[in-house]
Amino acid sequence: MKGVVKTIRGVGGVALRDVPAPAARAGEVVLDVIAGGICGTDLHIVADEFPYWPPVVLGHEILGRVAEVGAGVDEALIGKRVVAEPHAGACGVCYLCRRGWAQLCADKRSPGWGIDGGFAERVRLPAHLLHVIADAVPDDAAVLAEPLAVVCSGYEQAPVEPGDLVVVVGAGPLGLLAALAATAYGAAGVLVVGRHSSQLRLAAAAEHGLAVARSPDEAASWVAARSDRGGADLVVDTTGAASAVAMATALLRRRGRLLALGFGGAETIAVPWDAMLQRAVTVSFAMSSSHTGWLAATELLSSRRIAPEWLVTPFDLAAWSEAFDAVEGRHVIKAVLRP
Ligand SMILES: [Zn+2]
Ligand SMILES: [Zn+2]
Repeated sequence: MKGVVKTIRGVGGVALRDVPAPAARAGEVVLDVIAGGICGTDLHIVADEFPYWPPVVLGHEILGRVAEVGAGVDEALIGKRVVAEPHAGACGVCYLCRRGWAQLCADKRSPGWGIDGGFAERVRLPAHLLHVIADAVPDDAAVLAEPLAVVCSGYEQAPVEPGDLVVVVGAGPLGLLAALAATAYGAAGVLVVGRHSSQLRLAAAAEHGLAVARSPDEAASWVAARSDRGGADLVVDTTGAASAVAMATALLRRRGRLLALGFGGAETIAVPWDAMLQRAVTVSFAMSSSHTGWLAATELLSSRRIAPEWLVTPFDLAAWSEAFDAVEGRHVIKAVLRP
């Protein structure tokens, strides 16, 4: 079968190759892949900026149909359309796993970098990581379960409360999903702030009913016009940029919450420490996705309380390089590969 493989260590080294088709071992399933989402992490792997074990098939955002089950796995799963938590290899016995934080286990080897992933015709996964998706959910919405689970896991750390004013910084897939989820969680107002270079994404967001701002000033007036609490209740940052933290601090009310969901790529960034202290800001970092975050995400999708399929642009697996370029150049919001 064909798979997009990171063949060697170093920058680049990605190719569409023939790889052996997987077989399900005990406790595992094999999926016929329907679609695999391209994520910032995949670009970081190609750029040699994220750990991986080559040769490895890329792709950790996987939607598929169960084709085969291994020993001990319920045969009723066969034919079901599923998404999968990426926490393969988590040990189950360390402190983090036992606390329910398997996503942070040091032994974790996710599909797409630790074991073969979903940019292929078939993928083998541990059965306990699967979530069945309701038939009513279009493929292009279901394939967003992983980034949506990251968002929902973040909201476990920094909750959206009914009536909150929420500002999301960054108009990428994570930012737009964070905005849609905040609305579903009962926020009274949600604003997406993006750069001028994100014009296409902001226009699509506005077209789908989200409030958008293109500068810190625009964001400040939007908040000032709506808040009687002295600022936004929650700012979600998906950029990791110093300018975003500065803007978030300026927008937040006292005792506001800042949720950090995005890597900035710099070793250190300057933050307005004293202003954050004066506002008694609560800062939460969320990394990857919790099991309960997956339950929330699949519920939001299956109930159609959020319908994010408009974020997705599909590409054939064979056009993987074009798809990666489209993500890098921000010509699409979310590219997915279909074998
Ligand atoms: Zn991802
Ligand atoms: Zn563990």
